[in-house]
Amino acid sequence: MTSKSIVEDVRKVFNSGRTLNVDFRKAQLRSLQKMYLEHKDDFCSALASDLHKPAHEAIVLELNLVIGDIDHILARIDNWVQPEKVPRNLLTIFDTPMIYNDPYGVVLIMGAWNYPVQLGLLPLAGAIAAGNCVVVKPSEHAPAVSSLIARLLPKFIDNECYQVVEGGVPETTELLKERFDYIFFTGSSHVGKIVQRAAAEHLTPTTLELGGKSPVYLDDTVNLDIATRRIMWGKLINCGQTCIAPDYLLCSKTVQEAFVAKAREVINEFYGEDPKASPDYCRIVAERHVDRLSEYLKDGTVVVGGEVDKKQKYFAPTILTDVSPTSKVMTEEIFGPILPIVNVENVHDAIKFIKTRPGEPLALYIFSSSKPTLKHLAHDLPAGGMAVNDVIFHAAVPELPFGGVGSSGMGAYHGHFSFLTFTHRKSCLHRNYNPIAEWIGSKRYPPYTPKNTQF
Ligand code: NAD
Repeated sequence: MTSKSIVEDVRKVFNSGRTLNVDFRKAQLRSLQKMYLEHKDDFCSALASDLHKPAHEAIVLELNLVIGDIDHILARIDNWVQPEKVPRNLLTIFDTPMIYNDPYGVVLIMGAWNYPVQLGLLPLAGAIAAGNCVVVKPSEHAPAVSSLIARLLPKFIDNECYQVVEGGVPETTELLKERFDYIFFTGSSHVGKIVQRAAAEHLTPTTLELGGKSPVYLDDTVNLDIATRRIMWGKLINCGQTCIAPDYLLCSKTVQEAFVAKAREVINEFYGEDPKASPDYCRIVAERHVDRLSEYLKDGTVVVGGEVDKKQKYFAPTILTDVSPTSKVMTEEIFGPILPIVNVENVHDAIKFIKTRPGEPLALYIFSSSKPTLKHLAHDLPAGGMAVNDVIFHAAVPELPFGGVGSSGMGAYHGHFSFLTFTHRKSCLHRNYNPIAEWIGSKRYPPYTPKNTQF
């Protein structure tokens, strides 16, 4: 089938009104959960095959996140779909001003390969909840997960309302020629611009979940034992291939010394003497990315790690010091297990450093127990989201919107924010023929006289 015919078919089903029924949406969401629960092992195997992802990370950071988000949606969807009455004012005192929560229609969801289950299916859950029909395009760079999703989805959810298109750049390019009512894209800023240009052709609204460099500021007021464990965990899960992984660290020279010593211990504790032999350490997705990451090793002094095995797509947990702010490792999104450290004297230097770098961080991490420091950083810096004294975890809270700002993206999702993302809020002013309301409103009618022009 061509992209054109797929989108036409899906649009016909949307126009039939099938997805407007809220019980239908709830049944689909429950089936989606059933799919995960019945095929948990298949998902874990596919993630292991694509990324060497340990089952623990597959379950905690992908499957459970989707199941939890759907639980959150199912518990609240009956309220969310209700038309909302808004307060009246003098002019609408006899009327009913309302907001209806309408689905957009036919949605395209494009996922990335690094968390290929949750990045495709979390937005799918939101789009289903909001009553849309959906075309899902999983990433071709996680082929085992892509084909599993293509095989399983039609068995569990309505295969006319929700379709999967597999493929890479040519298939995506064809899809993007079609008119969708909403496009939800997760990936790089470079392809985000391509998607945005294609969407502009049809004036299609978009959510862009992009990448960037997420800084960590660490001062000397923290519990370094806990802070180092949290930072290294966030950096090393999925071998650093996490959009909100701590990208680089800002701290004083003294804190750096203590941090590096602690980080060595933590890596050993997590993965043993030889992380390559650890079943808990992932691999880099492709050899070309191993090459890309290897280039970064030239940008500083390797004080931890640095071992690479291209054939096995292995890249050791690595820390770099003495990096120049203008080097590649400090100007490109790292997306791998390398943590460069840049020295700053205080919070003001940290703010200045982050502010003068191109691009807005997708995540900002502050490790400090100093209230003035927290206040400065939280208020003075733009970021898609932030966490204080931890990393990554803010993305697992369904009550918080997850998304970027500026170059790290636009729009947000998770929980209610997914529902709102895929919902058009249609305003409606319901009036009646009340004679007093008509008398109040009659000033609008011509002929315009000085009297009816005085408001
Ligand atoms: P990517 O942008 O390279 O590719 C995404 C998809 O776009 C691909 O699967 C491909 O099908 C399609 N594509 C690629 N080139 C194209 C082209 N020229 N024309 C049309 N379509 C094209 O991203 P990726 O490598 O899959 O993911 C890595 C990036 O995603 C990183 O920057 C990361 O930070 C970001 N990311 C962001 C989030 C988030 O939630 N904000 C989550 C995960 C990853």
